[in-house]
Amino acid sequence: MGIQRFEGVRLIAFNRGAFREGAAVCIPGVGIVASPSSLRSVSLLRHEFGHILQYRRWGFFVFWFLIAPVSLISARKSRKYKGHNHMHRWTEWSANQLSFHYFSKPADWDLSRYPLGPPSSGFHVPPILRSSFDPEGKILPAS
Ligand SMILES: [Zn+2]
Repeated sequence: MGIQRFEGVRLIAFNRGAFREGAAVCIPGVGIVASPSSLRSVSLLRHEFGHILQYRRWGFFVFWFLIAPVSLISARKSRKYKGHNHMHRWTEWSANQLSFHYFSKPADWDLSRYPLGPPSSGFHVPPILRSSFDPEGKILPAS
């Protein structure tokens, strides 16, 4: 069967701890780590692949110093508190948005689980990335 890949990104099955509860993590250059059942979810893979697209768009520094910490802390928080919506974090909906466009706006995109824009309450992105977003949270074409 060989190594499973999604858009060329290696899929790494890991079924311990939070991964067994549905957590997934995307490590550019390494792969997408999730439980075997999560790795069968195209919606989840598209989301995780969105983090690869963030890495490609914004680079190593932004990914590892601005996106990854916010995303990991938020994901952990969402497992502890039901009131915390992980997908409201800019690191998450922007990954969805990049992926949605990369895959040419798939009709079966799960909008309720993987929203494409910020919550109505607004959003904050680090100042270094502000020029990449319009006021509604639409990611502008790379210049
Ligand atoms: Zn994510």
